[in-house]
Amino acid sequence: MTGSTDIGPILRVALPTPLRRLFDYRCRTEAGSAAGAAPYAGEIEPGMRVRVPFGRRRLIGVVMETATRTELSEERLKAVLEPLDTRPIFDRPMLALLRWAAAYYHHPPGEVLSAALPKALRLGAPLDAMQEHWRLTPAGRAAWAQGEPRRAPRQRALLAELAAEETTARLSRDREVRREAARALKARGWIVSIQLPFAPPPVTAADPAVVQSQVGGPALNAEQRQATERICQSLNAFGAFVLQGITGSGKTEVYLRVTEQVLTLGRSALVLVPEIGLTPQLIERFRERFRVGMAVLHSALTDQERLAAWRDAFSGRARIVLGTRSAVFAPLPRLGAIIVDEEHDASFKQHEGGFRYSARDLALVRARRAEVPVVLGSATPAIETLHNVETGRYARLRLTKRAVQATPPRIALIDLRTSAQHAGLSTPAVQAMERHLGAGGQVLVFLNRRGYAPTLLCTACGWIAPCSDCDARLTVHLAAQRLRCHHCGADAPLPVRCAQCGFTVKPVGQGTERIEGTLAAMFPEMPCVRLDRDVVRHRGDLELAVRRIASGEGRILVGTQMVTKGHDFPNVTLVVILNADQGLFSADFRAAERLAQTIVQVAGRAGRGERPGEVLIQTEYPAHPLLTGLLSEGYEGFARTALKERREASWPPFSRLAAVRGSAATAEAALTFLAEARSLAGHTEGVRLLGPVPAAMARRAGRHHAQLLVESADRGRLHRFLDAWLAQVESLPSARRVRWVLDVDPIELF
Ligand code: ADP
Ligand code: ZN
Ligand code: ZN
Repeated sequence: MTGSTDIGPILRVALPTPLRRLFDYRCRTEAGSAAGAAPYAGEIEPGMRVRVPFGRRRLIGVVMETATRTELSEERLKAVLEPLDTRPIFDRPMLALLRWAAAYYHHPPGEVLSAALPKALRLGAPLDAMQEHWRLTPAGRAAWAQGEPRRAPRQRALLAELAAEETTARLSRDREVRREAARALKARGWIVSIQLPFAPPPVTAADPAVVQSQVGGPALNAEQRQATERICQSLNAFGAFVLQGITGSGKTEVYLRVTEQVLTLGRSALVLVPEIGLTPQLIERFRERFRVGMAVLHSALTDQERLAAWRDAFSGRARIVLGTRSAVFAPLPRLGAIIVDEEHDASFKQHEGGFRYSARDLALVRARRAEVPVVLGSATPAIETLHNVETGRYARLRLTKRAVQATPPRIALIDLRTSAQHAGLSTPAVQAMERHLGAGGQVLVFLNRRGYAPTLLCTACGWIAPCSDCDARLTVHLAAQRLRCHHCGADAPLPVRCAQCGFTVKPVGQGTERIEGTLAAMFPEMPCVRLDRDVVRHRGDLELAVRRIASGEGRILVGTQMVTKGHDFPNVTLVVILNADQGLFSADFRAAERLAQTIVQVAGRAGRGERPGEVLIQTEYPAHPLLTGLLSEGYEGFARTALKERREASWPPFSRLAAVRGSAATAEAALTFLAEARSLAGHTEGVRLLGPVPAAMARRAGRHHAQLLVESADRGRLHRFLDAWLAQVESLPSARRVRWVLDVDPIELF
């Protein structure tokens, strides 16, 4: 290789820069130190943080690999300033995962690290939590020898302990009592406090009695036992298992049993969930089942909380790590299994910012590198996941029976074109509600639209209140007396008159707030509980609403998507889906899948207890094949049809997609950039470019959005193309006038 330098160990470092590459640094080959020289190579291994010079700045990065050659000349090759760690903060499988993620998502390795590491650690915080310890001073030893302090037994006891141990004592036991004694001794100069790194407990195979709390689980049914056994047979090797079972079939119980075995082997478990706020019951069940430490990681943590949770996981103090998307990067010293609950959920895919990874897909890569099983649980597995089952890459384990109650709910369609309606509620739906409420059941009404009404209309001139920054209408929030945009967050007082002609305006259409009011008027003696982002704003709001339903106090539950997840309402006997039609005719080939999943998940809320359930779906398209297929054959019937359609149209999983999404102040700037990017591509065998096209909602928050799709039947081919092409796209002059990101395996097309 011409011009490459061969001068001993080279460290290849991921640095927080937007460049899609690693940076080479030198260190010293011999031990023994000259002051100011580069650190010795033997002190640094891949996975450690180092401080390095970068231009005029100093940056903290992570050593990803070592090399013996570099493309840099000897003069340009700079030395590492110092290591920040004495042991790697990422183990080998994690480094492999990070490298894989950077390559697969074509994202700068340094920014991949930003997703994987708490901010405090990126800024150089020590790896280990520090603990306060106490040590005897010579004066303290002398005082102790003379029998001091005579009238303070607690201080005397602490001195005794320190004198006897000839070492340090921790404060954590009997914290408050000892702290007071320590403060007094310190004031007299008899002891000093020092900070020492927290020493993680040795991780060993644990006694089942240590792992399990008093609360044992129910005896497993045959299917649960089989599933647990199959997964646990593979605890020392990679295996991908799809645990497919309707809501209430006991998937969580299987997760708990697998976790128990993992813990008993002295290993740790990683559990990924879509949204922490929506799964309090799952966390609770893990907490009450096991005695071991647990770390919970999610986006609402403060930086300090996140650091503490990360350290708990890293040190092995937490043996179960439960978290949302980014928890897939959590450090677990002896990972034993990964569980992904509700694997089909769209929130596992990062859909903001630059690094658009799928935590579900990364969980599979991580499990493979760590040689442990991964369990993907869902009542409605993603179409891709089912395809992987069909091709034999994943093993499917089914739970077909409800753990508690055997009869599945009865599902029927209500034809909105032929039924009388009042305020969005058809007569058959209202009659069914009367029946179920009269029999003592609870009723769930699902509408995926929050607010009072989606439109504010002038009946004189036809004016509709628009968002000034988006191609969207403003939603009426009546109780708050506001008009809000659900796309950009714009928020204004609710006008009484038309902005155009001055006539009075009126809200048109239904949102959850309005339905709640209608139902309260219809069934005045039945308390109604609403569940959506407007009422659930703070920690605890959700628990409160869930408790009102679970206790039976609330008889009618009205909610958005939020009601589809995780909660167990055994007394809900009727579910009414007010509008299934959004999603039936979308340009996005995944819209149908999402609709089917939502219907099945909402329907799963009915009749989880002793009573049989009934599900009514209001629609204007009762003959739509998606709905009829779903009704006659269930989710699997739907999935078969969907896979067939995707095969014919050659959509994923029968092809691979990447989207370049661009946005700019003008539509022209966004489209010009994408058109230039497209023309750079020329013709590549087996790779198709589609677009550019404006987004379905082209203007959002004052910016114009457009996208260009790249498609190939072959994953390797797509990625080789992207590698070469992106380097050119980056250097386009028009790229500087737009914000753009590459979205590999996009799950939302617009
Ligand atoms: P899923 O996660 O599939 O929705 P869960 O594991 O939450 O199902 O189970 C639903 C309910 O059934 C829970 O209340 C759970 O405690 C109970 N359950 C699960 N398995 C059994 C079993 N084998 N015997 C009795 N009850 C069970
Ligand atoms: Zn008007
Ligand atoms: Zn807006």
